[in-house]
Amino acid sequence: MTLPTPETHLRDVTRIVEHRSTGEQEFLQSVREVLDTLGPVLAEHPEFIEAGILDRLVEPERQVIFRVPWTDDQNRVQVNRGMRVQFNSVLGPYKGGLRFHPTVNLSVIKFLGFEQIFKNALTSQRIGAGKGGSDFDPAGKSASEVMRFCQSFMTELVHHIGEDTDIPAGDIGVGSREIGYLFGQYRRITQRYEAGVLTGKGVGWGGAEVRTEATGYGAVFFAQEMLARAGQGIEGRRAVVSGSGNVATYAIEKVQQLGGKAITASDSSGYIVDEAGIDLELLKQVKGVERARISEYAERRQSARYVTGGSVWDVPAELAFPCATQNELTDVHAKTMIANGVRAVTEGANMPTTPEAVELFQEAGVLFAPGKAANAGGVATSALEMSQNAARSRWDRDKSESRLHGIMRDVHESTFDASERYGRPGDYVLGANSAAFVTVAQAMLAQGVI
Ligand code: GLU
Repeated sequence: MTLPTPETHLRDVTRIVEHRSTGEQEFLQSVREVLDTLGPVLAEHPEFIEAGILDRLVEPERQVIFRVPWTDDQNRVQVNRGMRVQFNSVLGPYKGGLRFHPTVNLSVIKFLGFEQIFKNALTSQRIGAGKGGSDFDPAGKSASEVMRFCQSFMTELVHHIGEDTDIPAGDIGVGSREIGYLFGQYRRITQRYEAGVLTGKGVGWGGAEVRTEATGYGAVFFAQEMLARAGQGIEGRRAVVSGSGNVATYAIEKVQQLGGKAITASDSSGYIVDEAGIDLELLKQVKGVERARISEYAERRQSARYVTGGSVWDVPAELAFPCATQNELTDVHAKTMIANGVRAVTEGANMPTTPEAVELFQEAGVLFAPGKAANAGGVATSALEMSQNAARSRWDRDKSESRLHGIMRDVHESTFDASERYGRPGDYVLGANSAAFVTVAQAMLAQGVI
């Protein structure tokens, strides 16, 4: 049998995915983005082509779609769609968050699950990849509606998860409140206190210290490493951050702790610019405690203004942290940012930068860190939570944060090393995809055709 060349193989696999997943825009985008960079790895490892590694990798091991019925506060019956995509378990049990947002559909969950394979491999924590969620919109729902929805969601999900099979966590719309309701229902149905079945739990009942902060902190640690390699730093630099959930909030906190100045935050209605630097206590109060709109922040703080048109990317800064959602930073934004002198873009969210924008940054010599490397701190700390649950132990904050810091340094190093090895030093997109793919592919090769 003569093997196809890497180029032919990549084209064939892309075609199959396009055919099978017609219309799944986000999923196809994430697959193309990875496949586009794997030529050099396949040239070095023809055995991956021979074993059909990629053909298998792009097809989830299992996909579950289910009805989630619940009653609202007016006693009306509501129905949402729930799903869990168990993408790959070659490195460990499926691991990845749940997203509750009206934009959730199978394409979105598959793209997130696919990204998770690579991200989780980069953490070196022996976790496979999955993702799930629902088109349920938590906005404007009462706490008891959210609870009833979570209980109904778990009544089906319980059949598919377990501490050694699949361990969900949070994502957009799912924080420790929702994880609490989900865990309670799991415990009730199974009659087991299986702490390691969900991560992102409250620290008083099995959660890990620093899990809430981990994704945001981790992204800034990654940026710090990337900047240091280029002889630069965070201190004294202006940073624009999008979003105002956990990732954005704790990215802002870490930027400030490292002497930088984070000046923006946003939500779906608009954004705020605070030239005095974001007041974190106020941001946490408005978004975390009150679950109010970001405009409230500007109403309570003189140095801040609230803007509804455009985006945070119009605000000049040397550092940028997209921490909101997929495809929020486009080529139009990238041009403005480059003209305004941006030096580093670090993705706190999953795939927030469009492929055209990534290309523009890379051509302009802007340091660019893809989410699957830069935001791996969240899921890595989830794996640390699983370890603590299994050992029935609990680490303090210092130990938890220093483990996170160490993991992010390692993720940076392995990503950079792979970028060098495969011929494009400093191309963190190619580096992250290649390093992760080699790890996963070798394990798949060893475990046979399954
Ligand atoms: N949703 C997060 C992510 O995108 C965390 C997943 C987890 O902790 O399992 O990686």
